[in-house]
Amino acid sequence: MSSPTPSRRRASGFDFSDGKSNNLYVNLQNHPDLANKFNLTDQPSHLQRNKTERRRLQGLQQSSPTATSAAKWFPDSVTWQQKLSVWKINEGGRQVFFGVWILLHGLVFIFGAVNYQLKDNYNNARQTFGITFVIARAAALMLHLDVIFILFPVCRNFISLFRRTALNSVIPFDKNITFHKATAWSIVIGTVIHVLAHMVNFAKLAIADTSATTGGQKVLAFLAINFTTGPGATGWAMTLFLFLIVFFALEKKRRTHFERFWYSHHLFIPFFIAWQLHGMFCMIKPDRPPYCSWQQIGVFWRYWIAGGVVWVGERLLREIRSRHVTYISKVIQHPSNVVELQIKKEKTTTRAGQYIFVCCPEVSYFQWHPFTLTSAPEDDYISVHIRVVGDFTRTLAKAVGCDFDSKGKGDKGGDDTGARVIGKSDNALGRTMPRIMVDGPFGSASEDFLNYETVLLVGAGIGVTPFASILKSIWYRMNNYSSDSKPTRLSKVYFTWVIRDFGSAEWFHSLLHAIEEQDTQNRIEINIYLTAKIKDDDVNNIIVQDVGAEKDAITSLRAPTHFGRPNWDRVFTSVADKHPETDVGVFFCGPAVLSRQLHTMCNKYSMLNGTRFFYGKENF
Ligand SMILES: Cc1cc2nc3c(=O)[nH]c(=O)nc-3n(C[C@H](O)[C@H](O)[C@H](O)COP(=O)(O)OP(=O)(O)OC[C@H]3O[C@@H](n4cnc5c(N)ncnc54)[C@H](O)[C@@H]3O)c2cc1C
Repeated sequence: MSSPTPSRRRASGFDFSDGKSNNLYVNLQNHPDLANKFNLTDQPSHLQRNKTERRRLQGLQQSSPTATSAAKWFPDSVTWQQKLSVWKINEGGRQVFFGVWILLHGLVFIFGAVNYQLKDNYNNARQTFGITFVIARAAALMLHLDVIFILFPVCRNFISLFRRTALNSVIPFDKNITFHKATAWSIVIGTVIHVLAHMVNFAKLAIADTSATTGGQKVLAFLAINFTTGPGATGWAMTLFLFLIVFFALEKKRRTHFERFWYSHHLFIPFFIAWQLHGMFCMIKPDRPPYCSWQQIGVFWRYWIAGGVVWVGERLLREIRSRHVTYISKVIQHPSNVVELQIKKEKTTTRAGQYIFVCCPEVSYFQWHPFTLTSAPEDDYISVHIRVVGDFTRTLAKAVGCDFDSKGKGDKGGDDTGARVIGKSDNALGRTMPRIMVDGPFGSASEDFLNYETVLLVGAGIGVTPFASILKSIWYRMNNYSSDSKPTRLSKVYFTWVIRDFGSAEWFHSLLHAIEEQDTQNRIEINIYLTAKIKDDDVNNIIVQDVGAEKDAITSLRAPTHFGRPNWDRVFTSVADKHPETDVGVFFCGPAVLSRQLHTMCNKYSMLNGTRFFYGKENF
């Protein structure tokens, strides 16, 4: 690549931020340290760098997409085979899997309907109820199919185990919760069809009831069938349980009242019991005996048993694991309402990128909350960084001695990152910290970072936690810390962190600092994007401190902080330019909006015979 002209080099340093978010640009236009300030109006409206900073810009930021490489992404003619091959990279497996799953439902419904329509043992039922008998039964069959699937995706040990096998390339294990939700919605649809069909059937029964002669009596007969018969009462109980489960699990409700979601979800136990009973009443009899043998009715358990056993096994495992000797060995209060818990736990091996469930009985015996490990497998403890956002995290932070309420306390006695050690404990016995129980670790998409030669890690806010453990682990590998570390293909890591305010940079700071110091081969590139609006005074301070400095005024890292949001088009073009014909793993943890953007970018910039971007994400 030809060497960039000076003005181009200056622009390229900032090509990664879209500059939409702050007022810094306006102030900087007039700053004497900015080279060629007359050129600024030609540049995208984002922050320009001073000379010293430009020197500190890392390889990826210094590259600029050439006209030719830009043209590569949008060639004039793309065949459908090429499109298909690119589609297969990030979408293929997942969409084919869901396609097969939907097809399976369609087939079960159709074949079920044909069976009940033609079976010679149900002539009476068809005569009495007509097509609604067929529809109700076919929907019931579809519901039984869903029962096979509903529990597997929430069995985290099961998922963690299988996601490491070759099956992971066929079954999207990391989409387990999406699959659980899809199955749940299928249960809702099946239930609505089943209930509506039976309402018609019940109405037909009430109309045919010779003991009810008036309209009012017919209505009473209809209600009696609904609520005083076994199938009716259990059916409505199930419908009520399902309604409550779904209502509190809706995204908005779940986000605002997680506990209501969590407890109401446990209604699945009476829901399943009612389902088993529902089928045992043998309301619609076949024409010939055996009328209601155990092989024909109450068959729910047969469909449920596989998932149910695995689920019960997982719960037992949680009980066993929670009894392992576990204690909090260190508590560190970080700025921006983040508390770090270092935990010692026997019989635990972890992999970078995994998460655990934490329960603190002093806070709540029933609540288990997921947190990503920030410790590396090479550490002799496991750690989590918890952002205080709601009831559980606030009470937990208080219980371990943190105080985020009193202003300035977080800084008192803290190190240069503002972190403060709140407590330490050397063993489980002389415990001064509250008791803690840990379940896991469980696998996640970011666990796969070692499968790629190049990775782009993107964390937003507290979503940086999975990458703490990954970066630490890479750092340990770079320093040959452990002789039994397996050799890895990984040779280049681009780490991007999008944060709103200064404070949130600090707790992660010492790790990034250590990485920069050790990374003599420049294998890890750090890019921090600050998206908050910055006050004029702060802007001036930053500028003054940055002039001639070898380190960034905000983070003290060599890598300069960018202001504004990343310009993903430029990031992806640059990575592709630097790593042609390479499989690049893109791992993201943070809000769904940004996740969608990155997912789109991965598809947009993947090329059949060029760089292929594989997308993996984790959602909090
Ligand atoms: C796989 C995973 C990894 C996570 N890793 C981290 C991490 O490293 N650091 C961090 O600070 N946070 C992490 N979180 C988010 C963390 O679990 C929640 O912030 C925490 O449970 C909030 O509980 P709360 O009662 O204080 O807040 P609430 O006010 O009850 O909830 C705040 C938010 O957290 C969600 N939430 C609450 N409880 C749970 C739960 N048991 N399971 C899932 N989501 C919940 C709610 O839906 C809501 O969006 C992670 C979440 C997941 C799913």
